[in-house]
Amino acid sequence: MASREGAIARAGAYFDEGTFKEDLARLVAFETESQNPDQKPELRRYLDEAMLPWLTELGFTCRIFDNPDPRGGPLLVGERIEDPAFETVLTYGHGDVIRAQSDQWRAGLAPFTVVEEGDRLYGRGTADNKGQHLINIAALAHVLAERGSLGFNVKVLIEMSEETGSAGLAAFCAAERELLSADVLIASDGPRLQPDTPTMFMGSRGGVNFDLIVNFREGAHHSGNWGGLLADPATVLAHAIASIVDARGQIQIPEWRPTSLTPDIRAALRDLPILSEEGSGPRIDEDWGEEELSPAERVFGWNSFAVLAMKSGVPEAPVNAISGWAKAHCQLRYVVGTDTDDILPALRRHLDAHGFQMVEITPADRVFFRATRLDPSDPWVTFVATSLEESAGKAPHILPNLAGSLPNDTFSEILGLPTVWVPHSYRGCSQHAPNEHVVKATCREALSLMAGLFWDIGARKPA
Ligand SMILES: [Zn+2]
Repeated sequence: MASREGAIARAGAYFDEGTFKEDLARLVAFETESQNPDQKPELRRYLDEAMLPWLTELGFTCRIFDNPDPRGGPLLVGERIEDPAFETVLTYGHGDVIRAQSDQWRAGLAPFTVVEEGDRLYGRGTADNKGQHLINIAALAHVLAERGSLGFNVKVLIEMSEETGSAGLAAFCAAERELLSADVLIASDGPRLQPDTPTMFMGSRGGVNFDLIVNFREGAHHSGNWGGLLADPATVLAHAIASIVDARGQIQIPEWRPTSLTPDIRAALRDLPILSEEGSGPRIDEDWGEEELSPAERVFGWNSFAVLAMKSGVPEAPVNAISGWAKAHCQLRYVVGTDTDDILPALRRHLDAHGFQMVEITPADRVFFRATRLDPSDPWVTFVATSLEESAGKAPHILPNLAGSLPNDTFSEILGLPTVWVPHSYRGCSQHAPNEHVVKATCREALSLMAGLFWDIGARKPA
């Protein structure tokens, strides 16, 4: 007799028998560094050799598309339609990884080989994102094996350019709306809040990067002969920045303060655990950021401004001269309730109003993600949370949005879907750094959570 427990037991056996590790090693071995132009053929090979045969075996009809943007890699769409009257789940993953950084991994580890050590599996892409879409597709396979059918339709979208800003993804989805039409997006990327508690998030913060430049004159001038006569661009830039945020990082531009931290969102954030824990990054600074807000509200419910890099003169070899220029590379991470299209115009108005007309704003030319968020009271959120709780035996952490950024706007805005993300990694996973890894216990639990969830979707009676 097919059962929910049966599907979860299959997922557990898949992990315990070592097949998950073998499959993960096979995916990690593709050197899919999208930031490295030499590896472009690997992007296609991942779809052709790793994804397409597996999905085809599971009954998906697959097509691989060239990216409409020449900067982007190929995209795969697989469809498994059991009955057009059934609900359709779209899932997403990215098969590209960031640079290998081969020379920086510690002894005994190598980016494209999965190494098991204690409770961890190391390798580039284990967490971001190969391990995560592997878990989801494997969970579908186990439900299929147990039930003989899924009871719903699935579409899979795999892109190969997420780590370079998902070039072409939005244009592709806009052009293929019909092919990608669905009732919900359920996908996995990013970290859990704590490794041993399931997490859901329903959107992400957006980000805007720009340079602030003060360029007064050609060359530097002797600070004895000219000091007191020539304006110092570094001082002017520092004051301009100090007009944007105060000394504890509180944003001073009214248009940059989001309108979305409602009582509902505050309630959703209230019980989330404190963010710092042993081994998962630095201690947070309690007295940094918006004074009235809790740490969870600051990172998930508010905007933050940062100076990512700044320079004037030659810091490595200073001389007694007044520099001609100063420059800062800055970023605003923002949540919904911020007018994306007014972020840089509002900054211009603010700087002008404070006498900083001489500070130029140059937007960065890389693609960036817009902020998105699904209402935590959406029925899909409740449904997924109930399913995860049944499988895990405890309630998941529910974040209105991820603090980091994802191409979620493509799914929520362009495809118009409710979006629910169930991350399988944790914040100490060294994603985007050497020694990237996943925690075995988390992977095993994630396989059972997703098998339970896909079982439940097939059994549900949609309203
Ligand atoms: Zn990444």
